[in-house]
Amino acid sequence: MSDHAEVLVCLSFEPPQTVAPRVLERLVEAGIVSAIPTDCTLGSSGYAPGPNVKAAVRDTSFTNLRVNGLEIELPDQVELFGWGEGFEPSFACSSCKRALDEGPMYGLLKAGVSAWGRVACPACEGARPLWEWNVLEGALGNLGFHFWNWTPLRKSFIERMEDWCEAPLTRVHVAI
Ligand SMILES: [Zn+2]
Repeated sequence: MSDHAEVLVCLSFEPPQTVAPRVLERLVEAGIVSAIPTDCTLGSSGYAPGPNVKAAVRDTSFTNLRVNGLEIELPDQVELFGWGEGFEPSFACSSCKRALDEGPMYGLLKAGVSAWGRVACPACEGARPLWEWNVLEGALGNLGFHFWNWTPLRKSFIERMEDWCEAPLTRVHVAI
C-alpha cells in the first residue's frame, strides 16, 4: 500500500525554526501527537498520534498503521511542497491564468526560490515574483507539517494550527 500525507504548508515571515517547536508543544499539550519522536514516518523520526487525536480527525483508523506520525519539515529555504505520485504542482499567472510551461518552471525551482526574480507570463507579458503566481496542486512554504496516512484533517484543527503558526496554512495532499 502506498503512503500518503496531508501536508499543512506554512509560509512564515517569522523564522520557521521558532515556529516549529512552538507548534509542536501545542500539539503535544492538546494530546494530538506524542512528545517523544519515534520511527513512525517514512524518513526522519516523527511524532505518533496522541490520546486526543480525534480532535484533529474524524476517522482514527490510521492510528493502527506503522507509518502514522507527524513529520515536521524545515527546508533551508522556501520550497515547493506537493510533489508525489500523480501530483504535479504547477504555477498559473494570477492575472490571466495561463500556466507556466514546465521547462521554465523546473529551471526556476532548480535555481531556488531565494534566487527567483520576477517571472514574465508568456501570455499577458506581466512579470511578478513566482510567489505571486497561483500554485495549483501545491504550495510554497518554509515549514511543512506532514501528517502521514492521516485521514482528512478537521477544518477546526487546521484553524487551530493557523493560530499556533500565526500564519495562514495551505493544505496539500501528497502520495508516494
Ligand atoms: Zn498572464
